[in-house]
Amino acid sequence: MRISLKWLVLVFIALLAYAPWASKASDSILSDYASTIVGQAVEVHCIYMTENEGYTQPMSDGSFEYDIWLKKGVCRNIKNLLLHKPIYNYGAQSWALTTIIHESYHIKLLSTDESLVECTAMRNIWGYIVKLDYTPRDNKRLYETAWIGHSYLPEEYTKGCKPPSGLLIETGLEVIYEA
Ligand SMILES: [Zn+2]
Repeated sequence: MRISLKWLVLVFIALLAYAPWASKASDSILSDYASTIVGQAVEVHCIYMTENEGYTQPMSDGSFEYDIWLKKGVCRNIKNLLLHKPIYNYGAQSWALTTIIHESYHIKLLSTDESLVECTAMRNIWGYIVKLDYTPRDNKRLYETAWIGHSYLPEEYTKGCKPPSGLLIETGLEVIYEA
């Protein structure tokens, strides 16, 4: 029996895609990025998720595993910013950026306090946006939509956070959450 090379390659690719370890592999670009936020080596894993946009795992001693799990679409939206591709969805991409920064701050602050983590992330978000090196106009829109996205979160996350005054009223933009 003759098995074509093409067929073997297809089977190999299929095995790679469905191997249990495939989904555990970390994303090097996003891992590097989160590591700079945390100040220690962190691994970011992009997985299929329906419940969350992202999470990190607290351990019984109150510390965190140095792993961040993000929804695949969230990963894509951050990576396109980090790779400096044209922005295609301010709301979804600033939301994604906020998500990786939020999860990184869980580890950085060793905290499960959602409002502490979220407020710290949002207080610092402008600095992370500017580092992406887009135009001032893009920066402003990313910043505005990041705050709009934030305002949709449950109170557990938003209590005590201080959005810049006037910002949300003036924009009239809507945040589109991408699956
Ligand atoms: Zn959180």
